[in-house]
Amino acid sequence: MKTTQNICALLGNPVEHSLSPVMHNAAFRDKGLDYTYLAFNVTQDRLCSALEGARALGFKGLNITIPHKVNVIPFLDELDPISQRIGAVNTVVNINGRLKGYNTDAAGFRRALEDKGIDPAGKHVVILGAGGAAMAVSYSLAEAGAGITVLNRLARLNQAVALTRNLPSGPGKTARALALNPENLAGSLETADILVNATSSGMYPKMEETLVPCRLIRPEMTVFDLVYNPLQTRLVSEAASAGAMTINGLEMLVWQGALAFELWTGLSAPVGIMRSEALKALGGRPEKPAGRREPAGATALPTSIALTGFMGSGKTTVARILAEITGKRLVELDRVIEVNAGASIPEIFARTGETGFREIEIEAVKEVSSGRNQVISCGGGVVLNKINMDRLKESAVICYLEVSPEVIMSRMQSQDVEKPVLADPADREEVARLIRFREPFYRAYADIVINSTGLSAEDTARQIVERLASHARRN
Ligand code: NAP
Repeated sequence: MKTTQNICALLGNPVEHSLSPVMHNAAFRDKGLDYTYLAFNVTQDRLCSALEGARALGFKGLNITIPHKVNVIPFLDELDPISQRIGAVNTVVNINGRLKGYNTDAAGFRRALEDKGIDPAGKHVVILGAGGAAMAVSYSLAEAGAGITVLNRLARLNQAVALTRNLPSGPGKTARALALNPENLAGSLETADILVNATSSGMYPKMEETLVPCRLIRPEMTVFDLVYNPLQTRLVSEAASAGAMTINGLEMLVWQGALAFELWTGLSAPVGIMRSEALKALGGRPEKPAGRREPAGATALPTSIALTGFMGSGKTTVARILAEITGKRLVELDRVIEVNAGASIPEIFARTGETGFREIEIEAVKEVSSGRNQVISCGGGVVLNKINMDRLKESAVICYLEVSPEVIMSRMQSQDVEKPVLADPADREEVARLIRFREPFYRAYADIVINSTGLSAEDTARQIVERLASHARRN
């Protein structure tokens, strides 16, 4: 029997939803390493025994997650200077039986910012939360020379105060702790360059939650939500709609994982593979309440087709032709929204703003997803909410109509645009930014991608029918 000593593991509670096993096992495979990554649920009273077990069995390394990042420290033999300074450990390396703690969350956060070309030096950063993640993030920002405001709930304001006291000090490095309340939030965001959500607000299953009213988000701000499940939190979605640059938690997750991989193996991490495996796992995960069963006799096969894509990608025309070819019922999501709201889309925007529109859209998607045998033409922004896409995926094959930005621009300039969010098609830069932002979401949720640039609507519909057949054979 083959045995392997090369085991890395995650210790936390809970760990069932962790993406670390898929990321690390894919990275080990990619590098041809005989390593395995496992996840263990460990309660606080068993943490010491779990670490001793890992040591005794010669595990190569560990990741430590909620709720053990701070409590693990007394059980380790050594800390690297950064994890010591932060007071939290998320990675452990077993060096010949000695367990050494590191913190790759801090550097992972910094790499995610750098990837977006953001240098925090001299910026004012507002951090929501004062837990393990906030400790790493604030350390990394203070090191980089940012001014920091940490907001935490009043009952645990002392945690935020302790956190700020512990930060590196020096010229320009200011840090303050305030109670998280509407006044302090509004006041501190007035001058914020970067907002970081380091709380679990907005995380599955509380996806409707956000701590920041969208009126407080300014387009010049960068909004970084550490939550990665869902990928597109309500905060990220609203910040993007407000014109802010957004970064989701997946970027930090991938980088903290990549840095841990490098500590365990001494090799450079295949970051692209880790990111795409994590993204796949997030997109494909059936996030239903545990124990939920399909009703008896229900078929698991989707019978509908949902067309997604940017405004001007031809969804309406292609959906109409597709409905004719397949004999399925044509459903235009925007029309369902208008009927339900008793108002046109421009009127809904005028009355309730984009936030109100998105709320009505969620209800419309819920309604439409319960139907069968439909061709659903979706609004361009439907992919911004994971709840919508999870619902659609239950009954429909998702088909993304990819069209080049140039074609979208020219089509938008030659048609009546209904949604005030894009009412000025001459603003090419804004449209290009929106296309760039949404594109990964269209792609991540798609079962089928059709590049229809240069194709007629009829040819696009025919291609979809062909691809549906091979999709059905594969599944
Ligand atoms: P933690 O140590 O449990 O701390 C959670 C913090 O969030 C605490 O400050 C808590 O406030 C605050 N909080 C929770 N729910 C809140 C709410 N509804 N309103 C206001 N504050 C709330 O957790 P953590 O390790 O810091 O993780 C925080 C988040 O970051 C989680 O969503 C986690 O998934 C994410 N994270 C992401 C990465 C990544 O790589 N992307 C890495 C680490 C963590 P109190 O002190 O008042 O309870």
